[in-house]
Amino acid sequence: MLFGAHESISGGVFNAIERGKKATCDTIQMFNKSNSQWRAKKIDQKELDKYFELIEETGVTVSTSHSSYLINMASPKKPLNKMSYDSLKLEMERCNMLKIPNLVFHPGSHVGTGEEEGMDRIAKNINKMFGELKDNNVHLLLETTAGQGTNLGYTFEQLSYMIKRVKDSSQLGVCLDTCHIFAAGYPISDPKDYKKTMKQFDDIIGIDRLRIIHMNDSKKEFGSKRDRHEHIGKGFIGIEAFKNIVNDKRLKNIPMILETPKEEELLEDIKNLKLLRSLVKK
Ligand SMILES: [Zn+2]
Ligand SMILES: [Zn+2]
Repeated sequence: MLFGAHESISGGVFNAIERGKKATCDTIQMFNKSNSQWRAKKIDQKELDKYFELIEETGVTVSTSHSSYLINMASPKKPLNKMSYDSLKLEMERCNMLKIPNLVFHPGSHVGTGEEEGMDRIAKNINKMFGELKDNNVHLLLETTAGQGTNLGYTFEQLSYMIKRVKDSSQLGVCLDTCHIFAAGYPISDPKDYKKTMKQFDDIIGIDRLRIIHMNDSKKEFGSKRDRHEHIGKGFIGIEAFKNIVNDKRLKNIPMILETPKEEELLEDIKNLKLLRSLVKK
């Protein structure tokens, strides 16, 4: 099984690999550029070489990148929609160059224009993007969201709605975030509830669309629609849910990535990963 965490690229993309190694990750998630700015610094050949060298040397792989928080593919405002589109497309190209197989993005916010209209704008942008990208090997993943504000993607039906409107969806997948679906009102702690939630996911979206799982406990209660990550077993979700997930045979090849709080030394990642691995039944 592949367990890992989101690691910082501060100082260069190759640093995320070293941090992943230090944190005992099998695999990592990273940003491919600064996540809080539109600007993207070019990655030069030296940085790229070092990145691939370190992957080879450490055995730590990069399963996915996470896109910038500024992007809103559902924006009704033309300039912001265009900036979001250009930015996400550039991130797809950067992932392709970095040989990262997946790019996760939050579908978007309709900001008062209505859910269907927002989802239609997202699907239209994805169609356009897949039409324009050249030699693309990257899967674009819609992330399940908590449903805060006017965020879209907080029900499995909404994700399915968008996927169905993409003409060629062969490079389109889903990232399931435990904290987000719990906050959105999908129970996963009791084994019976977990089974039911996963059956819904499979019936509505299809389990074969699932390519990454974000493993986060929640600082907020069930159905709160608030997105606040907590250490594994320390939040309202509780350890049982994670036991269900790591022992679900259908998910054994899906990278499971922590996005939980941490300090410079990454001791929290080490502890959370050790805990997750200990839940796997032999
Ligand atoms: Zn997430
Ligand atoms: Zn979150």
